[in-house]
Amino acid sequence: MGMRQRRWGMGLLALLLGLAGCARRVPPPPPPPAPPPREVPLRVHFLDVGQGDAVLIQTPEGKNLLLDGGERGAGGTVIAYLRQQGVTALDLVIASHPHEDHIGGLLEVLTAFPVKTLLDSGYVLGTPTQERLLELVRERGVRYRLGRAGNVIRAGPCTLEVLAPEEPLLHDTESDANNNSLVLRLIYGQTAFLFTGDLEEAGRQRLLRHGREVRSQVLKVAHHGSRNGTDEKFVAAVQPQVAIISCGANNSYGHPHREALRALRLAQVHVYTTRDNGNIVVTSDGQQIAVCPERGGELIVRPRLRPSAGKSPSSSPRPAAEKQEIPLTGRYIGNRNSKVFHGPECKTLPAPRNRVLFPTREAALQAGYRPCRRCQP
Ligand SMILES: [Zn+2]
Ligand SMILES: [Zn+2]
Repeated sequence: MGMRQRRWGMGLLALLLGLAGCARRVPPPPPPPAPPPREVPLRVHFLDVGQGDAVLIQTPEGKNLLLDGGERGAGGTVIAYLRQQGVTALDLVIASHPHEDHIGGLLEVLTAFPVKTLLDSGYVLGTPTQERLLELVRERGVRYRLGRAGNVIRAGPCTLEVLAPEEPLLHDTESDANNNSLVLRLIYGQTAFLFTGDLEEAGRQRLLRHGREVRSQVLKVAHHGSRNGTDEKFVAAVQPQVAIISCGANNSYGHPHREALRALRLAQVHVYTTRDNGNIVVTSDGQQIAVCPERGGELIVRPRLRPSAGKSPSSSPRPAAEKQEIPLTGRYIGNRNSKVFHGPECKTLPAPRNRVLFPTREAALQAGYRPCRRCQP
């Protein structure tokens, strides 16, 4: 840098300092030492909805995803739990398959919260509950997406991979609705969760035959711990360290079945059930996993394996079109002080410590924030 340039530089610096000085008459006190940045963990809540499934996924950047909603009668329980967790809107609702104990409660959820997108298995059962669900999707302007193997949903630092079903859907199995369940793998850092819906043997075999990467430390056990949902071969493929079974007390199916529990215990998997443990919250900071049940002992798990992003080891390459990204748009950033919210692209975003994240525009407006004049139409 030449002498002339350096003088220019100094002048500019003095000018900037001068301006900064003018802006505040009293020099600000030195800022307190900033606390070390604390990553918000990924939170996966397995709700106690009796006989059925309902899982709330809260990503580190504040997105709320709901996977299934229990039976019709469980809708109120799910809504109350979501509100308790500060949920005002859902970025994604996932219907693993159209059985009553998975989508029944979603009817009430869809009327209670604004929902951006519904991810569906697309298996048509044609029950009044399924018809009502699809009606609600239209009425409430929810975006409808089919989930197919190879789809990838990115939610900030987390990735949700759809591992099943794939076309053509399975037919003439013991239960086609169950075997065409959406199977999802949620990856955050070194940790992974596998959600298997009510998958039974036929669906499980297809998943393994097609070489889908299923290895995950946390397994949401298929079909409420039914004997047709879990076997030793599948447990060996997933290598879970923690298994969660969602089932009700004294259910008429006798879930969880002894055979499924045995397969998990043989592999020394820590088993939790919503029946015995109530609501179970599993958090991950991307490095390790903590299991915090409503009843029973807490557990910290260090991953034994590093999950590779779903690369299929199968020799037949999958068509490129299969790997389709489903965008999860609509994160809004509010300024705690000015109560103005911005889109992520805005040039006048508040300092990180003043940011409040909203999943939707509606949530921001509801919280009393005004849209930014520059970036919000
Ligand atoms: Zn079920
Ligand atoms: Zn089912």
